[in-house]
Amino acid sequence: MKCRKCDERAVIRIRAHNLALCREDFLDFVLDRVQKAIRTYRLLQKGERVLVALSGGKDSLAAFDILQRLGYQVEAFHIELGIDGFSEASLEKVKAFVRERGATLHLLRVEDELGMGVVEAARRLRRPPCSLCGMIKRYLMNRFAYERGFSAVVTGHNLDDEGATLLGNLLRWQTGYLSRQAPLLPSSHPRLIKKVKPLVLLSEREVLAYCLLRPISYLPDRCPYAKGATSIPQKEALNLLELHSPGTKLRFYQGFLQVRESIPQEEGELRECEVCGFLTVREKCQFCTLKERLNATEGRRR
Ligand code: SF4
Ligand code: ZN
Repeated sequence: MKCRKCDERAVIRIRAHNLALCREDFLDFVLDRVQKAIRTYRLLQKGERVLVALSGGKDSLAAFDILQRLGYQVEAFHIELGIDGFSEASLEKVKAFVRERGATLHLLRVEDELGMGVVEAARRLRRPPCSLCGMIKRYLMNRFAYERGFSAVVTGHNLDDEGATLLGNLLRWQTGYLSRQAPLLPSSHPRLIKKVKPLVLLSEREVLAYCLLRPISYLPDRCPYAKGATSIPQKEALNLLELHSPGTKLRFYQGFLQVRESIPQEEGELRECEVCGFLTVREKCQFCTLKERLNATEGRRR
């Protein structure tokens, strides 16, 4: 199999684009896809200060690497969640990656914020860790970016992640979530930093191949709590459709983004949290409410 661009030996075949590419041309293809997403969805401007949330997994490390190669001003951000074994391994991977690139790493620990990690907080409230973890990460990322003057927070969501979320929202007809699913969540208030997903036009397989070929050393293990994630069967369903009809995932997601504008927005009116000042639809934001509940459980234990 020869590379479509240069006649060298191809190392990957991408059926969705009817392409076979050698290493060099594949790495360029990935950069082009990210540039296309940035241009099409107006994600970032050159010169902006961009904070990239790194988990140690392939997607976030690839997002950082690609944006840095494209000349964006990126700094790394990692949250130590407090998940035994997994958090230590994630932090090691992130530190090694950042060191290799001479980049700046900002670190936050959930334990410093709540007095305990995510798993312990969930145990005290008798809730699954994931039901708190996403909210905690979003809150801390936004607050940190605001306090340090970043204009964008980048996450490594890829096409498979976004397709699975979209399918899940459609299967449950969650129109409120549908209207908020986008590669760009713009800033509508100075304390709300825009959220950007530059990998949305790249499949999971393409991101994985990018990491292997570049190469980027990432943490292959998933969080132990990810096992029962509802997105897994949805990803499998989309993979099956993709196998039968290459390009399905892209058509599904890009088609959605075209009709998304016509979905009525169901966002409640945002106001400032009476405790921390960050935006919420209630009097107190979910993060401050969580802190209060945990303090109450602490009081009961005394
Ligand atoms: Fe957090 Fe759940 Fe993801 Fe683990 S799987 S990092 S607990 S959201
Ligand atoms: Zn608050």
